Amino acid sequence: MLMGSCDLSNIIPIVKKDNSSWKRIERTYQFHPLKDGRYQVSWILNNPGKINDIALCYPYGMAEIEKLVKETRGYLKKDIVGLSSENQSIIRLSNDYSDAGSKKAGIYIVARQHSGETPGSWVLEGILRYLAVSRVKNIIVWAIPLSNIDGVEKGCYGKDHFPHDLNRSWGNQPLRHETLVIQRDIARWQERCTPILGLDLHAPGGAEGDGIYFPFHNGQSPVIKKEKYWINVIGRAIGKEYVFSQYKKICKPVGNLKNLTGLMLDTYFRMCLKIPGLCLEIPYGISKGKVLTIEDYLEIGKRITYGIMEAIK
Ligand SMILES: [Zn+2]
Repeated sequence: MLMGSCDLSNIIPIVKKDNSSWKRIERTYQFHPLKDGRYQVSWILNNPGKINDIALCYPYGMAEIEKLVKETRGYLKKDIVGLSSENQSIIRLSNDYSDAGSKKAGIYIVARQHSGETPGSWVLEGILRYLAVSRVKNIIVWAIPLSNIDGVEKGCYGKDHFPHDLNRSWGNQPLRHETLVIQRDIARWQERCTPILGLDLHAPGGAEGDGIYFPFHNGQSPVIKKEKYWINVIGRAIGKEYVFSQYKKICKPVGNLKNLTGLMLDTYFRMCLKIPGLCLEIPYGISKGKVLTIEDYLEIGKRITYGIMEAIK
């Protein structure tokens, strides 16, 4: 079940037909109330041809990661950092292992804690592709592209995933094996760089179409001041057509803040590691009237990388 499906005109499925690539359908739908209180929604396909598959948003899984690693010609390294609850490999991509004690700036990125939120993966691909094209060596970037790999492989949406939502499982006592594995990897990365930022990539409710936003935890601590700085840097870099005008969306941290368990990842970065941690919500279909394609997601990722590179010059 998808959350936040209120404005159905913002849901624009994609279709694969005649064995060509995925494409958005036209922005149209029909709403049919049924006599028993349920309702049915249909999308109209003009010239359907031979339909191979239909999805809410562009899929992203291991096949896309293999292609990405191959096309970056040795720039990105792919390693297994541990196993999921169901014994699947948790992959980490990195541009440089670096050395213990290195002073180079470091960024750690996680996508797909909610396994259906594929826009986060496409933006991550844009970030990594631009790093590779620019052959960046002064920033140590490590990324977990498919953190909830069990949900990804099964096709689950992955919000409130049994036994705990991955993004409510971080902290001094990790509540999921996945978060234990990734926290240990974050600790390795921390030793090998000067951490400047943790990024957590998500997609919002299914019908949200106002642009990218940063669920933000307000405060005056030095680490929150740094988060405000990075929200401004990244928000400006992404650009008006893709960013919600009020992108500093205030929300309260969840979890046990006294014992620092059951936390969201950005809170884990901020409160346990004292590293600025940002969550980005990237829409499934539309941003301020602009229909989003794979090229848009890659462009957003490129702009994020460019903005960060310029900021640390
Ligand atoms: Zn999410």
